[in-house]
Amino acid sequence: MTWDYLIVGAGFAGAVLAERLASQRGATCLVIDKRAHIAGNAYDRYDAAGVLIHTYGPHYFRTNSDRIVAYLSQFTEWHHVDYKILSWTDGRHWQFPINLNTFEQLLGRASTSEEMERTLAEWRVPFESPRNSEEVIISRVGRRLYEMFFKNYTRKQWKRDPSELDASVCGRIPIRTNRDDRFVSDKFQALPKDGYTAMFAKILAHPKIEVRLNTDFREARKSVQFRHLIYTGPVDEYFDHCFGALPYRTIRFEEETLPVEYHQPAMQVNFPNDYEYTRVVEMKQATGQKLPVTTIVREYPEDFGPGREPYYPIPAPDTRALSERYAERAAQERGVSFVGRLATYRYYNMDQIVGMALAEFEKLRPLGPT
Ligand code: FAD
Ligand code: UDP
Repeated sequence: MTWDYLIVGAGFAGAVLAERLASQRGATCLVIDKRAHIAGNAYDRYDAAGVLIHTYGPHYFRTNSDRIVAYLSQFTEWHHVDYKILSWTDGRHWQFPINLNTFEQLLGRASTSEEMERTLAEWRVPFESPRNSEEVIISRVGRRLYEMFFKNYTRKQWKRDPSELDASVCGRIPIRTNRDDRFVSDKFQALPKDGYTAMFAKILAHPKIEVRLNTDFREARKSVQFRHLIYTGPVDEYFDHCFGALPYRTIRFEEETLPVEYHQPAMQVNFPNDYEYTRVVEMKQATGQKLPVTTIVREYPEDFGPGREPYYPIPAPDTRALSERYAERAAQERGVSFVGRLATYRYYNMDQIVGMALAEFEKLRPLGPT
């Protein structure tokens, strides 16, 4: 048969587009993924101890968009949770992101928002428009806090100095002078009640959608017939790296189950200055699962290479020049839509990818009769 759409990737971008095209346009969609599961990097699963964990790092859903919440709520109920994390440095846990409580920890006494604002005003290094991740943080909190919490974490994570990364990388971490100690500020913060994989199973459960796992596009393109392609894999791979390989960062996830109810004082502890891992995540604290054991996951950032997953595009001036060449090439490719984090080489969160997929659906013209 000839499919209306061949969709490469069963992550947010691919699944949302398949659902829209099947349910709103009656289109037949074949969704393939080279992995053995749906949900892309948002995939979660119960491990051998029965703990629901996020296989590819913590995925904290958050958004300010009512439209995106309404769309996803067709497929899941929500477990509301304020994401709260800590940072470990100088032999102790610190409130993070930086807020008034962190400032009090630093002073060793009670303080006020006014005092914190006055002090930060003295510590700040002014920049009219910060051009990189070092400038953006020192322009908000000065060098001392930058060096405590950002400089070495960023070097570990990206193998680059913050001065070589776009301001948006570290700039996405809020800095507050009140006592709001949530990791992110978005008005909606919740996890799918039964997990991401269960939500994706519902998104994809449409009679016009077929999912084939363990199926690589490079093989499938030889045999599958289709009218339009939606590609959510790495854009450089699609074009056989014709302009050179785009750089990515990858992560090695080390899981450990422990015979205790909880291992650490928060769902996530960051380690800017100690150890080779960047953070330790205890997802059970976010999901609210009640169990006598727990599983933690340590994240070791590593170089990307053959056989490894390209988890992070690297937002920086040099990579942008190369990714723009691919974007121009992609715009010329007839009958193909490039959607999602890897296909557009953007460091985007899940809600942004859902938004991108919904916008692409609006843009796609109906295919018309065969
Ligand atoms: P993906 O989920 O990567 O899906 C693309 C799919 O395409 C993959 O399943 C891949 O196997 C498949 N594919 C690629 N090439 C081929 C091929 N040749 N053939 C067949 N299949 C192919 N976002 C948040 O909002 N909150 C968070 O807390 C958060 N934490 C994150 C933590 C980590 C460690 C990472 C890596 C990302 C995090 N994100 C988070 C971002 C989130 O993962 C992405 O925004 C989202 O998953 C992107 O969806 P996507 O569909 O574009 O890509
Ligand atoms: N970051 C940091 N210290 C921290 C947390 C984050 O320097 O304790 C920087 C780092 O460069 C990181 C970026 O801010 O890559 C974004 O952090 P986030 O936790 O949002 O990253 P992600 O969940 O996407 O890995």
